[in-house]
Amino acid sequence: MSIAYYLKIKTYRFFNTILGESILKSLSSFVYVKGLKRANAKNEFPFIISITIDTESGYVDKNDYRIWQKLKPDAYIGYYKGIENWRKLLNKHNAKATFFLSANCFTAKAGDYNKIIKQLKLLVKEGHEIGLHMHPDSDFALQQALNKKFDATSAKFYSYVEIEKIIKTGKNLIKKHIGINPISFRWGNWALNTDAVKALQKNGFKIDSSATPGIRGHQNDKMAYDWGKVNEHYPWKLSNADYQNTKHQNTSIIEIPIATFNFLGFNLRADPANSALLQACFDYYYKNADRTKKPFVFVVISHSIEATHEDGSKTKVIGVMEEFLNYVKKFKGVKFSTLNKAI
Ligand SMILES: [Zn+2]
Repeated sequence: MSIAYYLKIKTYRFFNTILGESILKSLSSFVYVKGLKRANAKNEFPFIISITIDTESGYVDKNDYRIWQKLKPDAYIGYYKGIENWRKLLNKHNAKATFFLSANCFTAKAGDYNKIIKQLKLLVKEGHEIGLHMHPDSDFALQQALNKKFDATSAKFYSYVEIEKIIKTGKNLIKKHIGINPISFRWGNWALNTDAVKALQKNGFKIDSSATPGIRGHQNDKMAYDWGKVNEHYPWKLSNADYQNTKHQNTSIIEIPIATFNFLGFNLRADPANSALLQACFDYYYKNADRTKKPFVFVVISHSIEATHEDGSKTKVIGVMEEFLNYVKKFKGVKFSTLNKAI
């Protein structure tokens, strides 16, 4: 087990087991969002919650460990059962979500393939959004289409020419198998870079949601990502000169960042894996995000694999999300929307 993988598991387990949910609830007053100015004026526009699901192979094992696509690229249950378990929850609460799809699912054989396509078509029919999600190193449909092996997750390890081919091919695979043109994008492990911005622009993408303001990670491995310089929590137009610059605003791609927050020195994402902290994070944003001139978009991140065990049964994350949905629905002005519709 690599150190990075070990730490990833530990982060998830830390907030779910070591501290315990009841303690977390009492600590929620320690949640803080740097760079989010307190809005004093009256908030008249909606508070939009955009649930985003990175959709990949894998599952949650019986010890609550995440088996990610990289470890088991052919664990297609992460797609068909992961999507189905999310759909049941979302549809019950009439919440539309954005599913960022890794094209790796298109390597599945007949039985699994048909189950996946059925779920993807249901997503479209039910008004959810399908965007493109990029993991070059564990996306074997992409590698087959380009007849090339890729060994890194992050955009920074590829040339512009490679990135442009990768994004174009991913988009074409979705078009070929499910007949839609994705316009929203998230790079795997949030590892976008400036060349990727240019390639997204070239391929007609309108929205990116790779940014995790204030957070960087995996600096010494091939999953490296860096949004450490970004201090902005409202959408901006991405820069084609420096992807972390929020002032240039010189492309037509709108970055809708994932909601991030600080808790006792940890920089975290709005993610049901962080259990009760998701509600605490919502509370902070709901109270402080400016909605006097336009709606605020609160982006929550989860994964398809986190909704299913190896046998297809639903997971703790689905329970946490159900609790979250019931909680936020009571607040005035809260709406649920795909990213596409949110802008
Ligand atoms: Zn991913």
